[in-house]
Amino acid sequence: MDYSKTLFIYTRVSTTSQEEGGTSLDTQKDLGIRKSQELGFDYFLFNEGGQSSSHDDFNNRPALAKLLSRIDGGEIKHLFVYNTDRLSRNKMTWGVIRLKLLQQNVTLYTTSGIYNSTSPTDDLLLGILSEISSYDNSLRTERTRLGKLNRIRQSYWLGGPPVYGYKLVDKKLVPDEYESKWVNYIFEQFVEKIPVREIKMGLLGNGVQTRRKNDVWSLGSIEKLLTNTHFIGVYYVTDRKSGEIIKCECEPIISLDLFNRASDLKKIRSSRKVREGNQKHFYLLRDFLICGHCGSRFSGKTQSDTSRSVYYCPRKEKNYVNEHSKHHKDCTNNRYLKINLTDDLVWNTVIDVLTNSKQFKEQIKGEVLVERRSYQSQKTDIEKHSNSLKKLDKDIRDSLNLKKSTTLQFDVLKLQNFTDESQEHENSRIIYNIEEYIRKLESKKYDLNKKIHDLEGQVEWIDWVSEFRKNLKKLSDSTDEEKHYLMSRIIESINVFTVDKKTHKLIIEFKLPYVNDELTWNSPSNKTLGYVVSNGMKTKELEVFDEKKYQSKQLVAK
Ligand SMILES: [Zn+2]
Repeated sequence: MDYSKTLFIYTRVSTTSQEEGGTSLDTQKDLGIRKSQELGFDYFLFNEGGQSSSHDDFNNRPALAKLLSRIDGGEIKHLFVYNTDRLSRNKMTWGVIRLKLLQQNVTLYTTSGIYNSTSPTDDLLLGILSEISSYDNSLRTERTRLGKLNRIRQSYWLGGPPVYGYKLVDKKLVPDEYESKWVNYIFEQFVEKIPVREIKMGLLGNGVQTRRKNDVWSLGSIEKLLTNTHFIGVYYVTDRKSGEIIKCECEPIISLDLFNRASDLKKIRSSRKVREGNQKHFYLLRDFLICGHCGSRFSGKTQSDTSRSVYYCPRKEKNYVNEHSKHHKDCTNNRYLKINLTDDLVWNTVIDVLTNSKQFKEQIKGEVLVERRSYQSQKTDIEKHSNSLKKLDKDIRDSLNLKKSTTLQFDVLKLQNFTDESQEHENSRIIYNIEEYIRKLESKKYDLNKKIHDLEGQVEWIDWVSEFRKNLKKLSDSTDEEKHYLMSRIIESINVFTVDKKTHKLIIEFKLPYVNDELTWNSPSNKTLGYVVSNGMKTKELEVFDEKKYQSKQLVAK
């Protein structure tokens, strides 16, 4: 049956007055059929027969109930009744019906034409009912959310596959014997100062697959794994709505000592990596450049003759690695972008935009005025936090030693058969408590480190802004590092497109709409009334035109 071309006819007479001036069941039905013929539709009849309307609800009207459930199911799109009284005389019941008709977009035909909204009372009722139903929905959503949070609080794992090393049993994280063995392997190798690259080869050599059944682990996924606190029995879930951080527990699979040694080592390595990276090949733009054709992040290639150093889309190299896999993607952005030419053009464009941007000036003024006041207090805070951090580190060391000596003591007692089962139970409780205490200290340490890091970022920015204000004109003298720092603060990304053999199009996307913004005085004749800065655009387009290629071609042509 084609529901969009079927007229559903509902007929009913009230038992109190069987014949209502020519509106018997048959008459109502005939009128409905005539309407369907007029529309060129099929018809389908719901006949309630004679029913008392004194108790007008859905219970004593089975045909109406059936009709409504099919409206709910979205089957019925066209409905005929002799007049709206047939559906209900009761305001409340009628309101429910109208709400359903509206929600399912049903056209209602009556003998007086297509039915439209009637009395204000009807509309009011309808309004209230739809309010109630949407309130009901949001209550349900909130209940679901709270239920979910409660389950998280009880350390139930919600959504997504469990972290590597664990499996789900009754929706809780439980160590996976095979995988946890390899988690330990990764950590142990790492603290032995084996390069991540070699750990990766080790996994490959032992046939250890990733969760996604890949034989090859990415370096990133190994490094990421080294930061998972799940392995020491604790993880945190943040409720986006309230910002509440929920602490969850699971069974640890590596020792706290191993985890700490790894994270200390990781810190040293990453700071060294940054330094080395800066010394070897410094790329001003590589972090921002994105291929406009395929979305890859750009790579850089440095030559001893720097005029031949280039940025390029690494898609081809990636394809070589990912041949025959779903990551294989073609890219037509295959022309090199000369580094010296591009760096200069982009930097000059950025300076041009910033020098002309009213918003940037406002921002800098604002940040200096507002932040200056707190600058000193921020520096004091950093010092304070750093001192607490030192104390915390000492506490952690002491607790670890305590755990070591206590464990040893218990082991000796056990070996000499001085302990019975209940004593052993008590001993492991003691060890657990010490571990729990250490975990608390560790999470405090994590918070403190983050606070310090954030504060340092702010202080650094204020320093930079003040410096910038002093030498506004000298911006062009900035070192590459300074240029990079400024850009990372204000630029979101730069999309690169190949236009033709000599030309690239670059679209710089700023974090804020600095481009061509305007300053408007509230009253041009009275500047004391202040001004507003209206938004410009976030993007700036420019072309990188490789003149050298052009010239040599010209020469050949001559
Ligand atoms: Zn590409």
